[in-house]
Amino acid sequence: MERLDDISARLLALGWAPELAFLERTYSERRYDELFSNHRFVCMTTKLTEHGWRRIKGEMTRLMQGVRKQRLDDEAHTVSYKRGMSFESAGKELVEEYLDEHEEMKIFGLNIADLMHTPEVQHLLCAPKDTHVDEQSFLALQAQMETTMEGWKSRACNTLRQLIRRTKRAPKASNVDMLELATTVFRCNCCSPGYLFYPNVLGHKCLRPGPDPLFTFLHGHRYGLFDNMLFLGMFEARNLRFEAALPRTARQIIQVCNKDPDTVTAREMDSLDIRLVRDDVTIMTWRAAVS
Ligand SMILES: [Zn+2]
Repeated sequence: MERLDDISARLLALGWAPELAFLERTYSERRYDELFSNHRFVCMTTKLTEHGWRRIKGEMTRLMQGVRKQRLDDEAHTVSYKRGMSFESAGKELVEEYLDEHEEMKIFGLNIADLMHTPEVQHLLCAPKDTHVDEQSFLALQAQMETTMEGWKSRACNTLRQLIRRTKRAPKASNVDMLELATTVFRCNCCSPGYLFYPNVLGHKCLRPGPDPLFTFLHGHRYGLFDNMLFLGMFEARNLRFEAALPRTARQIIQVCNKDPDTVTAREMDSLDIRLVRDDVTIMTWRAAVS
């Protein structure tokens, strides 16, 4: 015991106080003994001499370095966890308030997971651990929610545009946003719901897979609860079974309606309010006919 106290005193003098405190605070008695008090250099019966300390100092320092890594990891995790919890409550409030004022954004399926992955929120979540970040820090983002959500929408739309550009029939450059074109549709081969139009495609459930990233962020690596999903995840178009499709039938239908498939938007087609008849029996909108 005296030797243990002597070694601890030497380590304290070398600045390992936080590590020794961490060992006592977080380790069970058994683990503490295994790692430290029963260490072959610590539990010897001989009294610690100056010469003896020099002989074991290197080994004891390596031991403390290992503990320091654990301590820093543990502190980082605690900070992340607290920030995640603060964001969970503030984020819900921010998204709800934003959607109350922007009904038109509801169709995008926008949720707290999308908000969490914006640079503005990541900046706070990943700030150096000694930076104070709490619920109020996240709530303060309310003042810039317009910019934050516009940024999110723009990145999500660009992902979809990239998918369209990869298709053989990608539209030639025109003044109309390719996402708005009536010929632009997407296909999800996970659930085959027919073609998906923009903007509804952004809310499609298969493109918001679990586990919810917030939940993973909070509990994932510590508790391993990857199978849980609190709500739909963030929009994620990188899905091998999802693709842009520019079907020939869409062009034909648009031409039947006397419109130019290279320039007419889905909204313009809607405003025609026409009904098409298939096989003299089924009456349908142009969207249903394309799907
Ligand atoms: Zn799907």
